[in-house]
This record gives sequence, C-alpha cells and structure tokens, in this order.
Amino acid sequence: MKMKKILVTRKLIKDSEDKALKIFDAKLNPNDELYSQSRVIEMCQGCDGVLTSLTDKMDKETIDKLPDSIKIISNFAVGFGNIDLEAAKKRGIAVTNTPEVLSDATAEIGVLLILGACRRAAEGIESAREGGWKWSADYLIGKQLTGSRLGILGMGRIGQKIAKIAKSLGMIIHYHNRSKLSPDKEDGAIYHDNLKSLFSVSDVLSICCPATKETENMINKETVEYFPKGAVITNVARGDIVDDDALIDALNRRKIYAVGLDVYKNEPNLNPGYLKIKSAFILPHLGSATKDTRIAMANLAIDNIDEFFKTGNCKNKVN
Ligand code: NAP
Repeated sequence: MKMKKILVTRKLIKDSEDKALKIFDAKLNPNDELYSQSRVIEMCQGCDGVLTSLTDKMDKETIDKLPDSIKIISNFAVGFGNIDLEAAKKRGIAVTNTPEVLSDATAEIGVLLILGACRRAAEGIESAREGGWKWSADYLIGKQLTGSRLGILGMGRIGQKIAKIAKSLGMIIHYHNRSKLSPDKEDGAIYHDNLKSLFSVSDVLSICCPATKETENMINKETVEYFPKGAVITNVARGDIVDDDALIDALNRRKIYAVGLDVYKNEPNLNPGYLKIKSAFILPHLGSATKDTRIAMANLAIDNIDEFFKTGNCKNKVN
C-alpha cells in the first residue's frame, strides 16, 4: 500500500517525528514555525491527513478550504476547542484527540495551581528573588488546604485525578458535571447538579471541563458572586471558560482571594489585569508539558491517523 501523506503542523519531540516518518510520508516543521491558517491550507495540498496542535485554529472557514484529499485532523491535545467539529463532519473529515495519556501530568499542574494560589507562591517567589524579606509570624500568610472544600467543575479524567491528590491533602471534594458519576468514580466526592450549588461550597475551585459553547464564560459577573467570600479559583482547562474582566474585578474587590491559572483566552496575550495582581499564580499553559507525556501524546496522535487509515475508524474520534 502507498504510504499516506501527512502534514505535521508543529515540531514534535524527535522520537515522535521518527515514528511519523516511519509510518507516513510526513511533512515536518523542523523550525517550529507558527503557520497561518492559509499556510496550513496550502501545505495540506496533496496530503491525506493533518496532525494539528492547539495553536492551529481549524475553524469552519479553514476546514471548508482544505483539499478533498484530507480525511483526518488528528489533534495533538485532549481538548479540541480549536477545531470546528461540525464543519469537519460535513466535509467527511474525522477529528481525533489524545485522551488519558496527559491526565497525570495535567492533574499535577492542576494541583500546583491550587497550592500556588492558596499558599501565595507568586508573592513568595518574588520576595525570595528580591531578597531583604523578613520572616515574621504573619508574613505571607496563606490559605491552608487541609480541611477546605475543593469544588471540581468537570470531574472527568483530569478532574478525578486532581480530586484524588487533593483528598490525600485533606481537602473535601465536591463536584459538578452534567451527569452524576458512579460511586466508584465519585470516591466519596459530593455531587451538585448545578453551578450555584457547587460554587457556594467551593473554598477553592478547580476548572477541569472542556471549552464548549455551554461552558464559555461559566465564571462570569453573576456566577462569581455564588462563591464564599475569599474563595480561590484555579483553571487548568481552557481560558474560554472564564470571563476575565469579571474575575479580575472580583479579585480587586477581594471577593476572590487568589487565582491559579495555566490557560487563558487569547494565549499568549493574557488579560493584562492579571499581571497587576501580585497574588495571581500564573503559568504559561504547562499542563501536559513533561517529556514522557508529550511523547505519549504525539505517538497517540500518530497512531490515531494510522488506525483511521487501516480500519476506517478510530477509537479517539470525537466527531
Ligand atoms: P473529560 O474526561 O472529557 O472530562 C470533562 C468533564 O467535564 C466530564 O466529567 C464532563 O462531564 C464535564 N463537562 C463537560 N461539559 C460540561 C458542562 N457543560 N457542564 C459541566 N460539566 C461538563 O476531559 P479531560 O481529559 O479530563 O480534560 C478536560 C479538559 O482539560 C480538556 O477538554 C482540555 O481542554 C483541558 N486540558 C488542559 C490541559 C493543559 O495543558 N492545561 C491539558 C489537558 C487537558 P459531563 O459530560 O457529565 O458533563
């Protein structure tokens, strides 16, 4: 059988690029250039599939202009908010993602956000670097996790892992999903069938749900008021779930005590309001950034294309 031709839009770790070259006639991106949408369309000419990452905006306009030869968009991420699934479906293009293999690494960052925001790590790091700080009984007093209530918005693969670690730190777990989990998956966590109910018991919130039309701006002017005064909000999922102006305003009013953020609207240009808040513990989208995880994700993205061309289907197809 003739080798399938694929475009890989971003540079991958070498092991994964070697794997792609072994299985496919792969066009790689050795300089890791950020391709524009029109460049992706142009480079897809003659290709059977494309391996995209979350920096590729595969909206309807882009998908509609892809050549007919493209049969699969394999996204190098579990989230697929960057791809218009319906537009792809209409054109008979399968879309796949990389679930599970990144859950541990992302949950680690999710817990880091909780710890960093609650224990004032951003201010602590700045003071330690500046020098001249003076220990005192009330210096950089933070919020203790032990005994506090952690609300998880989106208790899926990553949310459940965060819950497990947080439980071992002595936190009491509450969660909201559209559907209640089975008792073994809940593992003692308390279900809330609506946002207001979850937020009103969340001393700390961890956002772990996908970015969809339904979850867009779930943290907003109205819902931020549901939290207890002095709550902490963390987001390891996607920036689109938060209305930044509402959250920054709540921080400035001390309604919200601190934030821990890994993801933002319009990355990498986060809302400058966050930079003015000393307590904001902010990271540059590091969720899955470990070597093992990035290799596993890339290998899965490659395997998804291979499985699709061999069988006509793929277990990680999302549209
Ligand atoms: P998952 O297993 O599909 O879990 C998502 C959870 O969100 C499910 O429990 C789902 O439950 C819930 N949910 C979905 N829509 C909802 C809604 N409208 N309201 C309330 N809950 C809702 O996904 P995952 O693998 O844990 O990944 C979660 C997200 O993390 C991804 O979509 C991705 O955007 C993000 N992520 C970020 C990074 C990073 O680098 N920071 C890395 C990996 C993943 P129901 O269906 O019952 O509602």
